Amino acid sequence: MTETRTAAKKVLIKTYGCQMNAYDSDRMADMLAAEGYQPTEELGEADLVLLNTCHIREKAAEKVYSELGRIRLAKDEAAAAGRVMTVGVAGCVAQAEGAEIARRAPVVDLVVGPQSYQNLPALLRKTAAGERAIETEFAIGEKFERLEKAGRRSAKAVSAFLTVQEGCDKFCTFCVVPYTRGAEVSRPVSRILAEAEALAASGVREMTLLGQNVNAWHGEGADGREWGLGELLFRLAEIPGLDRLRYTTSHPRDMDDALIAAHRDLPELMPYLHLPVQSGSDRILKAMNRRHKAADYLALVERIRAARPDIALSGDFIVGFPGETDADFEATMRLIEAVGYAAAFSFKYSPRPGTPAAEHDDQVPEKVKTERLAALQALVAQQQDAFNRSKIGATMDVLFEKAGRHPGQLAGKSPWLQAVQVDAPEAMIGTIQRVVIEKPGANSLYGRLVSSSSSATQPLVEAAH
Ligand code: SAM
Ligand code: SF4
Repeated sequence: MTETRTAAKKVLIKTYGCQMNAYDSDRMADMLAAEGYQPTEELGEADLVLLNTCHIREKAAEKVYSELGRIRLAKDEAAAAGRVMTVGVAGCVAQAEGAEIARRAPVVDLVVGPQSYQNLPALLRKTAAGERAIETEFAIGEKFERLEKAGRRSAKAVSAFLTVQEGCDKFCTFCVVPYTRGAEVSRPVSRILAEAEALAASGVREMTLLGQNVNAWHGEGADGREWGLGELLFRLAEIPGLDRLRYTTSHPRDMDDALIAAHRDLPELMPYLHLPVQSGSDRILKAMNRRHKAADYLALVERIRAARPDIALSGDFIVGFPGETDADFEATMRLIEAVGYAAAFSFKYSPRPGTPAAEHDDQVPEKVKTERLAALQALVAQQQDAFNRSKIGATMDVLFEKAGRHPGQLAGKSPWLQAVQVDAPEAMIGTIQRVVIEKPGANSLYGRLVSSSSSATQPLVEAAH
């Protein structure tokens, strides 16, 4: 038999925005692998380029169009060499703008919203037939079920994401998520357990449950009762090999007693919680439709800390929401001082088309937003530095994930999500070791192995990851 040249097709997926997009990109890659596509990082050799986009702020959305300009040149070069390069836009920009993207950027052959990824193979057949394919339907139950069937979940790393919930019904007045991701939907327990077990079996030691409102997750448990995220975490902790559990992003209104109890009683649940508050001013919180006051948030933090005293908190903040005065901003700074964050994400308010806040006529000038953001970030940086320094001299479990910055070093994570660099042999990747923290660096802590006597030192799979 003569050998025929059937070079595999190559796909380049570029991901913007949140961890849920990172998860979706991996699932699309798994699905496309079943269709014969191998991943590539090289634009020049890609047969299919997919931009998995973010619409949360204007800057994020605009990045997509500048990237499409670059891709147009590569597509022209491919065409000159007799190759076809298919260009797709996925994610929240695709959902929000639909066919408009292809009008604004004719290089685009395919537009697919976040709830339609299961239809990618059919959409690609359409583009192969020379048609433009646009799909922005909401059919979320179907999405996960069909993605599961299309591509087996395989872990490529020691730490993995697992989406358990999608969408949002909260309608904060600044936010596009309820429009781009649709209504809140929880995946069923059995499907989550099956995916978690597959991940653990392929070497995953740490799993982060994802959802736009992950703590709004609920479903019928194995015992027939209605479970919330707390009960789900207890069940996931029973899976052999899953030593660490995390979840993100939570809404303060959905932190129920069972979830707080999980922080108290479940050693596998890491002592780190991302709990966005957005503002410390009750007036602004009301205008944002957050449906809680600053004092409610502080009381909640107190309850969580009573349950798990060493918990580290992070948050999201928006500065310059319409109508935000100096006094409102000061209230945010006071809340940050009162909480003491280990990390935080902060943003200038960005008016998003179609959201109520974008219509307000009391928009805050850009210069004021810039000043407030700088002041807030300086305060958070101080708190983060203090938190990191508080761990110097401490002995802690570190999960080694990959090779470190320098030869002979491994990079790992502390229970508090800090990056830790340690001199350690490669065979320790995928293991948890006791490490003493010696000094802080710019973005990581530096530590030293204490001994190799941890109970969880054996990798679950031979250096396959
Ligand atoms: N569901 C989460 C919550 O309730 O906080 C957050 C999800 S959102 C993808 C991530 C963060 O983006 C928000 O917490 C908020 O701080 C920020 N964000 C959302 N819309 C924004 C806007 N229009 N301008 C600036 N920041 C925004
Ligand atoms: Fe957006 Fe989060 Fe508010 Fe939902 S709860 S609208 S995702 S900020």
